[in-house]
Amino acid sequence: AKARGRNGYRFYAPSMSGEGVERLRLETFLRRSLEKDEMFLNYQPQVEIDTGRLVGVEALVRWNHPELGLVPPNRFISLAEDTGYINQLGKWVLYQACLQMVRWQEAGLWVPKMAVNLSAKQFERGSIASMVGDILRETGLEPHRLQLEVTESVIMNTGDAMVFINDLHSIGVGLAIDDFGTGYSSLAYLKQMPVQTLKIDRSFIKDISTDANDEAIAIAIIQLGKSMNLSVIAEGVETEQQAAFLLRHGCNLAQGYFYSKPVLPDDLLQRWQS
Ligand code: C2E
Ligand code: CA
Ligand code: CA
Ligand code: CA
Repeated sequence: AKARGRNGYRFYAPSMSGEGVERLRLETFLRRSLEKDEMFLNYQPQVEIDTGRLVGVEALVRWNHPELGLVPPNRFISLAEDTGYINQLGKWVLYQACLQMVRWQEAGLWVPKMAVNLSAKQFERGSIASMVGDILRETGLEPHRLQLEVTESVIMNTGDAMVFINDLHSIGVGLAIDDFGTGYSSLAYLKQMPVQTLKIDRSFIKDISTDANDEAIAIAIIQLGKSMNLSVIAEGVETEQQAAFLLRHGCNLAQGYFYSKPVLPDDLLQRWQS
């Protein structure tokens, strides 16, 4: 099942028959994706709602396979995790993202922060701080300009996660909790952890003007962040109404289609330069 999507990309969808066969095929392709130069990164702006100022970007990996077309991360990240390929891929993503910051700077664009997603599997290998430290040295990016995003489940379900997170903190990189509110998170943990940012999950933002429960949750997360001195950013902001709601309730940071979809480095440069 392939259909030519916008931008001339074909979007990958698994065939109706044989989920297992598809998976095996995908896995075989995935294993060679980096050496074949099929992976690339998109960057989504993070903005200050009241001023529209660019405060950072999030790196999001894309896989363009010649036969399968553009395979969405939701279809290959978990496979990469299961096969261990995520370690190679994650390292590549981090390196590219840090390098991109230096390139933008050389081209005259100042992007204050780069956010990169980390998977649980990347913690299971032992301290990732040395890997991150190496990449920062190699690319020359200042540690405080890198923010690593982890989900609550990474923190709660990974043995020694606290140790590794403290290691990362000690080399000066920032930490954000991704999809906040959707996982099983302990507030006691939050208190102990060197986290700077909470990202309100898109699912709470989506129906913010119609669903009273979602509103209440979003407000509660904003308040929690405030009282713990954390910055709070809302994900998946698609409308002006959602942005206005957030601002009204004390959240001045947002990311979402209302501001920009994830884009290629040059597009970001053109839109935000000067
Ligand atoms: P995430 O980290 O929660 O990333 C946000 C996702 O929401 C992205 O999907 C982004 O394109 C999408 N999004 C942003 N704004 C909006 C909006 O206004 N409306 C809607 N409907 N969606 C919006 P994407 O790029 O497909 O990535 C999906 C997930 O794949 C990510 O969720 C993340 O968990 C994972 N992922 C992506 N890149 C990486 C990576 O380099 N490493 C790891 N470990 N995971 C990654
Ligand atoms: Ca994320
Ligand atoms: Ca998220
Ligand atoms: Ca997510």
